Amino acid sequence: MTFPACPKCNGENTYHDTIQFVCPDCAYEWTGEEVAEDDEDQLIVKDSNGNLLSEGDDVLLIKDLKLKGSSEVLKKGTKFKNIRLVNGDHNVDCGKIMLKSEFLKKA
Ligand SMILES: [Zn+2]
Repeated sequence: MTFPACPKCNGENTYHDTIQFVCPDCAYEWTGEEVAEDDEDQLIVKDSNGNLLSEGDDVLLIKDLKLKGSSEVLKKGTKFKNIRLVNGDHNVDCGKIMLKSEFLKKA
């Protein structure tokens, strides 16, 4: 098993003390990002305020959005109920349309 190089000094003598990674060269300690990806069903989707969104949440649009390929504009403040989270660029399924979580906030 190999450990990632220290993000601070790039040292390769790092080890894992069961809670976090430790670099003996510069005493830097950090937790691996990979830990959160163990459960593949758990999508991490954050709204414009950095709050985690969950399946079934209600969200509000924070800005006017012009829909691609049409003249229709989604108005700021539009509410979408019972969202689903998906993997991808447009990571929130609002029923009729797919939106990016950065344009939404939890209602
Ligand atoms: Zn280091």
